[in-house]
Amino acid sequence: MSTIAFIGLGHMGGPMAKNLLKAGHQVIAFDLVEASLKDVVQAGAKAAASAHHAVKGVDAVVTMLPAGQHVRAVYLGAIGILAAAAKGTLFIDSSTIDVDSARSVHTAAAEAGQEFVDAPVSGGTAGAAAGTLTFMSGGSDSAFARAKPILSAMGKNIVHAGGAGTGQAAKICNNMLLAISMIGVSEAFVLAEKLGLDAQRLFDIASTSSGQCWSLTSYCPVPGPVPASPANRDYKPGFAASLMLKDLKLSQAAAQGSGAATPLGAHATQLYALMDAAGKGGDDFSGIIRFLKGIR
Ligand code: NAD
Repeated sequence: MSTIAFIGLGHMGGPMAKNLLKAGHQVIAFDLVEASLKDVVQAGAKAAASAHHAVKGVDAVVTMLPAGQHVRAVYLGAIGILAAAAKGTLFIDSSTIDVDSARSVHTAAAEAGQEFVDAPVSGGTAGAAAGTLTFMSGGSDSAFARAKPILSAMGKNIVHAGGAGTGQAAKICNNMLLAISMIGVSEAFVLAEKLGLDAQRLFDIASTSSGQCWSLTSYCPVPGPVPASPANRDYKPGFAASLMLKDLKLSQAAAQGSGAATPLGAHATQLYALMDAAGKGGDDFSGIIRFLKGIR
């Protein structure tokens, strides 16, 4: 078992750190919020006074921070954790951040003689608590091989996406596709209603026809056909529209930076931005159907 520093103990990081403890790892924890740190310490972690202190003498470091600016601030520079840790420490960042920030941390890690994996997750807070997250990992074969047993304590699908930044690329490509398909499914139900076609009938036909997709059959945006979908509990998340908007913005920054044409991704970003601006960012992202129907 390893000694692992865990930095960022929020909605996702808190339960993930607890799963490392359950698996028998020693966890040195740090968060700027005292209550979040205390919660993980009560589960058996040791508190560190700062990120800098947390990484001294550990085998590996896991970070779960809000965005690229936080990751760069924690990792880089003279007081960053790459400089503070012993040479050869393994670093895993599971935050969802922009590809450029992930790649700049990869470069800095290589210069500092450290191994780094960008490993964002899918599965949300329920997956974090249950230890069933999917990790999409970008980095060298050797870094991935070292990260895999640690990630296995927090998730059930641990995928090596490729080289530096490809974990973040996989995450934003998947979520852009998900947003587009959810809007497409929602538009079909909105049109069906106007045409007098019953929602359950459309579901029965489309779910066994060429319109079939995950947004329809596992996460149906109308109440009824898929009992577990958020539509049946007044669009309580689930995966909040505001988090989907964050990932869509990352996809559009990456599309601009790389010259990829993503017109539907751009349109999906605008629709989720309007939903968020209407005060519905806390609803599940499948609530876009209510927005399309003009329900505010
Ligand atoms: P959160 O805001 O609940 O937690 C982030 C934590 O980082 C906070 O506790 C904050 O205090 C801490 N933090 C910020 N700056 C810090 C610093 N300099 N040093 C130490 N701690 C610091 O966010 P979350 O919901 O846990 O999400 C974390 C990441 O995971 C985000 O990138 C998010 O996009 C991604 N994600 C979230 C979900 C979800 O359902 N919540 C799902 C998949 C991915």
